[in-house]
Amino acid sequence: MKIICIGRNYAEHAKEMNSAVPTEPVFFMKPDTALLKEGDFYIPEFTKDLHHEIELVLKICKVGKHIEEQFAHKYYDEIGLGIDFTARDIQAKCKEKGLPWEKAKAFDNSAPLGKMVKKEELGDLNSINFELKINGESRQIGNSKDLIFSFDKVVSYVSQFVTLKQGDLIYTGTPEGVGPVKIGDKMEGFINGVSFLTLNVK
Ligand code: MG
Repeated sequence: MKIICIGRNYAEHAKEMNSAVPTEPVFFMKPDTALLKEGDFYIPEFTKDLHHEIELVLKICKVGKHIEEQFAHKYYDEIGLGIDFTARDIQAKCKEKGLPWEKAKAFDNSAPLGKMVKKEELGDLNSINFELKINGESRQIGNSKDLIFSFDKVVSYVSQFVTLKQGDLIYTGTPEGVGPVKIGDKMEGFINGVSFLTLNVK
């Protein structure tokens, strides 16, 4: 099982990162050891600036390679909410030196995942509202209508390079509002107003 993450998939987030809005999807991967499905999250010692990125997550339901965009919807059957934790200080150094991002993105437990539901339960997939609250305060609000590259587009695009397998997860990108978390924070993620993810930061 692998985790594929799409970068800069919301224009307002690209802007807050002083990054160009991409003309084709940007993706990177996290290993299976990044997945955190239950338990608390412990801030790793190597970062002083750990950021939250709330993201809609697709679960792949069958093997696919060179998937055409028009058929891509058949390759994911569940959607949920996850966090793409990012050591922003380390990522900034990697970017500066032109080095890969793994140290900043792929570390253990860097991909918490809440519950997943059948995609049909979410209604119009082009209008999924989602939100991250920390200690009850709203920090990030997004809607899938603002995706630069749609779910179908990213599934199709990634599969041109990497074979997708049943159980793989695609974190589809974060909206604006990323920021640091600290010990003691209580994170809660919502899809269309329903709680999908809770996480204590330690
Ligand atoms: Mg992200």
